[in-house]
Amino acid sequence: MIPYGKQEIIQQDIDAVVQVLQSDFLTQGPQVPAFEAALKAHTSAEFALAVNSATSALHIACLALGLGRGDILWTTPVTFVASANCGLYCGASVDFVDIDPQTYNMSASALEAKLVQAKETNALPKVIIPVHLCGQACDMKKIHALSKEYGFKIIEDASHAIGGRYLDAPIGSCEYSDITVFSFHPVKIVTTAEGGAAMTNSQELADKMALYRSHGITRDVDKMVNESHGGWYYEQIDLGFNYRMTELQAALGVSQMQRLDNFVADRHRLAERYNQLLSRLPISLPYQLEGTYSGLHLYVIRLQLETISKTHREIFEALRENGIGVNLHYIPVHTQPYYQKMGFKFGDFPQAEAYYQEAISLPMFHLMSYVQQDEVVRVLTSVLKG
Ligand SMILES: *Cc1c(COP(=O)(O)O)cnc(C)c1O
Repeated sequence: MIPYGKQEIIQQDIDAVVQVLQSDFLTQGPQVPAFEAALKAHTSAEFALAVNSATSALHIACLALGLGRGDILWTTPVTFVASANCGLYCGASVDFVDIDPQTYNMSASALEAKLVQAKETNALPKVIIPVHLCGQACDMKKIHALSKEYGFKIIEDASHAIGGRYLDAPIGSCEYSDITVFSFHPVKIVTTAEGGAAMTNSQELADKMALYRSHGITRDVDKMVNESHGGWYYEQIDLGFNYRMTELQAALGVSQMQRLDNFVADRHRLAERYNQLLSRLPISLPYQLEGTYSGLHLYVIRLQLETISKTHREIFEALRENGIGVNLHYIPVHTQPYYQKMGFKFGDFPQAEAYYQEAISLPMFHLMSYVQQDEVVRVLTSVLKG
């Protein structure tokens, strides 16, 4: 089976991890700060907090922005459940903004319309999480302008987008947001096995996230409530978690970050080749929003079902049966049973649902050979025609 995504681990990565195993620190040593330095250097953001997953990063980002009971968080329905669940962890309620039918990202105009309504009913969101689906940035300039008008905070879920750019700034620079979150799960662009990070330019948010990452404990005397009792002393000044990244993961991350630009360049080379090879099929190819350079975590096609004699499901299953490890990103979050119990239902976000009925993620990973890619194209072509 040709997988839809796959990490690349080379000897240099293995050596980096083995060195940590032979060192004094398996956690809370020098590798996590080194990985954070690499993330800051790449993005130009001032602060980086490496954590054990993007889900954890989203949670501490919401907490740092003060999201809590009685507050509202909005995100897109076409995302992994974690982009919405983080609001629920904080006791906030969650709602969604429908997608743009071309980019599949949160629609800035649907967002504006929903904000106008929410203002009238006194139900404005405190935090909005745009997700850079497939690695392509959302219309951040517009979303940022709306945040100033309506007073909400922005967390970019850039789990798909490290290595991408928006208006010539690297994704993660936080130029149009308060916090940007990355994921380093193995299917994503850079991996630490499990892992995530939160980027910000705010000292205050960085300090808060550092506390939430590690039990709410500080060893900084300036932040303590009482006088230090001595060299052993620390204080718990808030309620936090253990969301720390290990030294093994961080060392892998440092090693992988050196190849980030190559990873993304290879994905672009493959995407351009797909664009040519698939141009005559009854499918919509990924749309490129002006001013964006995608991280290209995913290559998603949409079937033009009205001109195909098979169903979406038949095509998907025929691809899998013929060795093409396709996937579908994502089942709209509001249609998950857990969210339906809150009152969401099919029909609430028609663009997201229409996308779900037509989308297929084709294999896309930087190690994919042209032979493998040609096989994907051959099978897809025959399945669509047959
Ligand atoms: C993968 C992913 C996450 C969660 O990342 P983890 O590191 O697995 O916690 C969150 N949001 C999006 C959009 C993702 O793709």
